[in-house]
Amino acid sequence: MSIKKSIMVTRSSMPDFEEYMEEIKDIWDSHWLTNMGVKHKQLEAELLKYLDTPNITLFTNGHLALECIIAALNLTGEVITTPFTFASTTHAIVRNGLEPVFCDINQDDYTIDTTKLESLITEKTSAIIPVHVYGNVCNIREIERIANKYNLKVIYDAAHTFGITVDGIGIANFGDASMFSFHATKVFNTIEGGAVAFKDEKLSKILYDIKNFGITGPESVEYVGGNAKMNEFQAAMGICNLRHVDKEIEKRKAAVDRYVQRLNNINGIKLCKPQMGVKSNYAYFPVVFEEYMLNRDEIFEKLKNHDIIARKYFYPLVNSFECYKGKFNVEKTPIAKYIADRVLTLPLYADLELEDVDRICNIILDK
Ligand SMILES: *Cc1c(COP(=O)(O)O)cnc(C)c1O
Repeated sequence: MSIKKSIMVTRSSMPDFEEYMEEIKDIWDSHWLTNMGVKHKQLEAELLKYLDTPNITLFTNGHLALECIIAALNLTGEVITTPFTFASTTHAIVRNGLEPVFCDINQDDYTIDTTKLESLITEKTSAIIPVHVYGNVCNIREIERIANKYNLKVIYDAAHTFGITVDGIGIANFGDASMFSFHATKVFNTIEGGAVAFKDEKLSKILYDIKNFGITGPESVEYVGGNAKMNEFQAAMGICNLRHVDKEIEKRKAAVDRYVQRLNNINGIKLCKPQMGVKSNYAYFPVVFEEYMLNRDEIFEKLKNHDIIARKYFYPLVNSFECYKGKFNVEKTPIAKYIADRVLTLPLYADLELEDVDRICNIILDK
């Protein structure tokens, strides 16, 4: 190959420069830069509709959104979660002074294994925080049954599931709350940003106050809140990107379809299967290399030698992080460990050319 074009694992969706300029003009007129201004209110209203959820509150990023909803629900003691996720999920639990308890994942979609959940519940358990990992939807019905039986709260880390529906119902409608991330690398972005969608209307005011230092009135501060407000430039980016997100998802689908066509039914290569009733957002393309001619690390290096950057996502497992050294036993979540050692997410973004997908697959298949 004569010209090497480098391909990163992801590439942020952006509106045309002029479209964004037009959107932020109002900000110059109003001089209102942050603190729940006009753009913030508009994006919030549009997302309420798009995600088809009863309530939503915006945040400056997904991680703080998760920290704030955990605080707002007054969780105590232990929280059952998955180690097969981004650092954020566990850190949000720990930073709220709670104890994460890791449940293993299942072999098929890598979400929390609900058959192992009940045995981890103790009198200290207050909540379950599962992750719709890679956009694969958790076993929502079973999680709901268990949560009702033991009176536990459920907060979904829905960072990967923007716009996904299950049997026509928006993903934001399950559990007590769902956290979304609008980080630059996600399907829908506000540069940095996030949101919590939730069932109980009463949480609206608490979440609003917690993201604004716990200030509840001109002369009253009722909570030890933080600062997690989304600013007007972020909201303006969101307003623009939301206009194009359906088209972006369609383009992602074309890339995913090509990957599947090329890599399906290859010995030693395992792909996630589409889930029944789920309308996907094609957020990631995870591939598990089991007994393939090259192992995951070798494939990663081989692609890198061609200037193609895939990602070992999620590796290492959260319960083996240095900051949690000695606290958890990775052997207790053997499937999560097995998958983390073998998984690679391949480059995927709306503008990824099909020829590039072919090039990536040719390198993997050694053609
Ligand atoms: C991106 C992500 C987060 C954190 O969201 P930010 O907006 O980056 O703070 C949390 N959980 C998962 C699974 C994520 O992928």
